Amino acid sequence: MSSSIGFVRFRDDQLIKVGKILCLGRNYVNHAREMNANIPEKPLIFLKPSTALLQNGGSVVIPPFSTEVHHEVEMVVLIGKRAKQVDKATALEYVSGYAVGLDMTLRDLQEIAKEKGLPWSVAKGFDTSAPVSEFVEAGTIKNPHDLNISLKVNGVLRQSANTREMIFSLGEVISYASSVFTLEAGDLIFTGTPSGVGKVVPGDELEADLESVGKLKVRIRSQEQSMAGKG
Ligand code: MG
Repeated sequence: MSSSIGFVRFRDDQLIKVGKILCLGRNYVNHAREMNANIPEKPLIFLKPSTALLQNGGSVVIPPFSTEVHHEVEMVVLIGKRAKQVDKATALEYVSGYAVGLDMTLRDLQEIAKEKGLPWSVAKGFDTSAPVSEFVEAGTIKNPHDLNISLKVNGVLRQSANTREMIFSLGEVISYASSVFTLEAGDLIFTGTPSGVGKVVPGDELEADLESVGKLKVRIRSQEQSMAGKG
């Protein structure tokens, strides 16, 4: 498993080396409301390092400096070719694949960071904070803005929505992102989570599902369990 850190799977047979991981905050109205946050006027972007990636079937390891880890289920986009200052009408041409992912978040540290006006890098970018399913080819998805997305914890539904509820469309997100960062083949974009985020604890089994794209299963471990070789 460790040899595949920094990579994602594309179709059944390819490993893709990931560059940047861009993530959207507050891209669903109901989630912004549950966080008591304002609706952003333009896409709110933060970054995770590629070392945060976790393969399907792996274990999210809660670091010892956090006691409140939350799940955020999200559609994830794989960029297939270089994009710089592209307009929203052509932006989807730069997408080569879709997957379902989890933006695992150390909510306790994020709240402190928000209060103090500090960056979210630790709260959002720790090792195993970015589990992602296998990517399917973009051409197989008729409309990425009409897909049911959900997350179950231990078989109980926690998050359920449709990607049509996103505030900023993929075209708007990619166009805006490409005006700030040159996007390159192998970059990922986590497109934001709907409402229903919540805490997970060691032993929990998470199952994320994105219609027509696939499923992602991970379990939650403490660092102690992980070091003891239990995953
Ligand atoms: Mg998120």
